[in-house]
Amino acid sequence: MVVRIGLVGLGKIARDQHLPVIEASPAFDLVAVASPHTRLEHRPGYLTIEAMLAAHPEIQAVALCQPPQARFSAARAALEAGKHVFLEKPPGATLSELSILAQIARERGVRLFASWHSRFAAGVEPARAWLAGRRVRRVEIEWREDVRHWHPGQAWIWEAGGLGVFDPGINALSIATAVLPRPFFLTAARLSFPMNRAAPIAAELAFTDFAGTEIVADFDWRQTGPQSWDIRMETDDGTLLLSKGGGALSIDGAAQDLPPEGEYRGLYDRFAHLIATGADDFDVTPLQHVADAFLRGERILVDAFED
Ligand code: NAP
Repeated sequence: MVVRIGLVGLGKIARDQHLPVIEASPAFDLVAVASPHTRLEHRPGYLTIEAMLAAHPEIQAVALCQPPQARFSAARAALEAGKHVFLEKPPGATLSELSILAQIARERGVRLFASWHSRFAAGVEPARAWLAGRRVRRVEIEWREDVRHWHPGQAWIWEAGGLGVFDPGINALSIATAVLPRPFFLTAARLSFPMNRAAPIAAELAFTDFAGTEIVADFDWRQTGPQSWDIRMETDDGTLLLSKGGGALSIDGAAQDLPPEGEYRGLYDRFAHLIATGADDFDVTPLQHVADAFLRGERILVDAFED
């Protein structure tokens, strides 16, 4: 069965990943798009999701790629119209809105997919399988990148609900929550807010689990030069390193053979599978950890940030 899909929010990730992957997928047929200012040449475009769904009742599913602050109202409109919904990460701006969306999806009998693209990086599943039988002692996450390079001019990311450095950092948390054998929780956090911004530019986090595993994370947007998206896990039987955002894996220094990058192809295959089987994939744990950091964290003011 081919699923007729609409896409909302024609920004960087929609163009870089969603559109080419949907076009190449035998499971989906792109019907139309909705975005406040941007259009596609080869598909009908609308200002709002409501206008798109009204004009194209044949749409069965939507992918929501706008900033997270705008995602709830679009998701609600789609679910209430009986459409399956693919949420870009982070799935929303608050945890409570996500509970409401999950409830609407259940009532309507449609799929609500909280997508975490980093979980589909090539090294993640092999890392989970290797860690499953081992005792993890310490985890170090280092997610340091240059915000000027990766997020130029993205005003929403610095606004309340945009998450600041947690926008990339949540990808690390999505991997850690997928591969570590036990759930963990935040014990301390220090969030650095530029004095002219509503979202943090850096965060130091400490977590543990009931076995006392030490888990630390360093997220920083002020990194120039080499960028790092690394997770190092020391176990009682060797050290595992996931680097390149989960795209490379080594064990005790030996690089492991992995298939080529296919995060978004994996996401759309998963969405098609959920629709075909009626299964659910709606894990909000990574966002829960971010919310805990905002709840529990110490807040310090640092130099103003200008793009
Ligand atoms: P972006 O380049 O700033 O694009 C967001 C787009 O959303 C804008 O182009 C805007 O469209 C549209 N938009 C804004 N408000 C909207 C609304 N109320 N309704 C519908 N559309 C609206 O952002 P992005 O980098 O693509 O990120 C979008 C989401 O994808 C974020 O949650 C981000 O975390 C996630 N993501 C991004 C990346 C990445 O590498 N950039 C990777 C993975 C996931 P107009 O142009 O029409 O105004």
